[in-house]
Amino acid sequence: MAEEKEKSAGKLLEEQLTFRFPHIGKEAPEQVEKAAEFCEGYKTFLNAGKTERECVAETEWMLLAAGYAPFDAKREYRPGDKVYRINRGKAVLMTTFGELPVSEGIRINGAHIDSPRLDLRPNPLYEKEDLAYFKTHYYGGIRKYQWGTIPLAMHGVVVRKDGTVTPVCIGEAEGDPVFCISDLLPHLAAKQNERKLGDGLRGEELNIIIGSLPFADDEVKEPVKLAVLKLLNEKYGMTEADFFRAEIEMVPAQKAVDVGLDHSLIGAYGQDDRVCAYTALMAEIETKHPRHTTVTVLTDKEEIGSDGNTGMNSDYFSHYVQDLARHEGADVNEVFAKSLCLSADVNAAYDPTFPDVFEKANASYLNKGTVLTKYTGSRGKSAANDASAETMARVIGIMEDAGVYWQAGELGAIDAGGGGTIAKYVSRLNIDTVDLGVPVISMHSPFEVTAKLDVYNTYLAFAAFFAGE
Ligand code: MN
Ligand code: MN
Repeated sequence: MAEEKEKSAGKLLEEQLTFRFPHIGKEAPEQVEKAAEFCEGYKTFLNAGKTERECVAETEWMLLAAGYAPFDAKREYRPGDKVYRINRGKAVLMTTFGELPVSEGIRINGAHIDSPRLDLRPNPLYEKEDLAYFKTHYYGGIRKYQWGTIPLAMHGVVVRKDGTVTPVCIGEAEGDPVFCISDLLPHLAAKQNERKLGDGLRGEELNIIIGSLPFADDEVKEPVKLAVLKLLNEKYGMTEADFFRAEIEMVPAQKAVDVGLDHSLIGAYGQDDRVCAYTALMAEIETKHPRHTTVTVLTDKEEIGSDGNTGMNSDYFSHYVQDLARHEGADVNEVFAKSLCLSADVNAAYDPTFPDVFEKANASYLNKGTVLTKYTGSRGKSAANDASAETMARVIGIMEDAGVYWQAGELGAIDAGGGGTIAKYVSRLNIDTVDLGVPVISMHSPFEVTAKLDVYNTYLAFAAFFAGE
């Protein structure tokens, strides 16, 4: 055995005083298998929930299986009891009652379950040159050119005249057709190639091909459109007028898959922010006897600014906390003031192919753990929830005590762009709040990429948050 070389004074001091976030694969290779196992459930969740409504339905099913019941203000609850509430089928709140009264503050974990997509317009169906199309209106921040020439699935609901809500889903089951947006062949794209990238495909060009065979009758003006309507009528009992009573989202038909020869990554649509929704949900479900009462909220509308009554800029969240407070005879303002919230959302992982938009020392990296983001916003931290040093210290302390791999990150280089999360809508209620979540490559694209080790450590962080302090 070779004798260990004695470390120089400088090397020792360097070890003592400087800091780098480790690569989990080097530091804790034993986590690779556990993370892979955890992510099998995550992939199932992604495939089951490609819209906010589907995520809520899947979540409710998981909650009921885990012994949760709808919150009932008339009932008494003991520590460890588990309740939930659904807001309009698009957002869900869950609680595990703690040992301490809610007046000692609650532990809040909030993720969003809406993702960028193409919504059908109120009057979407048209025929042009013997092809039938859907007109769409994009939802959230998308790079439009990424949505051409990929298989799309149709998800949503149609409310019929008698009030029945019919779920729609085409493009997911074995043998289902899919849909697509066309793009030009390179041979004829000389002029289109001169467009700026953001204009590569324009909003009015995001038209989805849905059929090409006519209803064979010369009397009919738009026979391909009619043939498509006939098929929709047979499947869902709907007519063209029912589109005005529908919410239909076109999303990538691709299922969640492993990426890389080593299976270390996950590629899927909608990981922003269902990756934090799933990890938050699993942490909530597995929390048995927390000290502080928990509230996990999976919310809607984050991608369009959290507005609308199912988004975090609605009072539905604070009404729920008010109900919990009233139930114990506590003052809700006192509950807010003593609470701590994780805004569970993704951050942009450093992408070596596009280094210019990151500042290396303050970027997050794949496989270095869950990302603590002190502030988001743009320019001079505009519209950011800038978490206090004290809040950072509490959350870092919880993660360090539990041995969670975490890293710090900003949302890209200064003035490269920016963005926001639900954090500011929670901190507005006088709640200490900070962003924590999974680093993502190709965020908001039809095929976002995360690392399994980061997903797993985000789950560990959320579990420690509910168990800790
Ligand atoms: Mn997000
Ligand atoms: Mn987003």
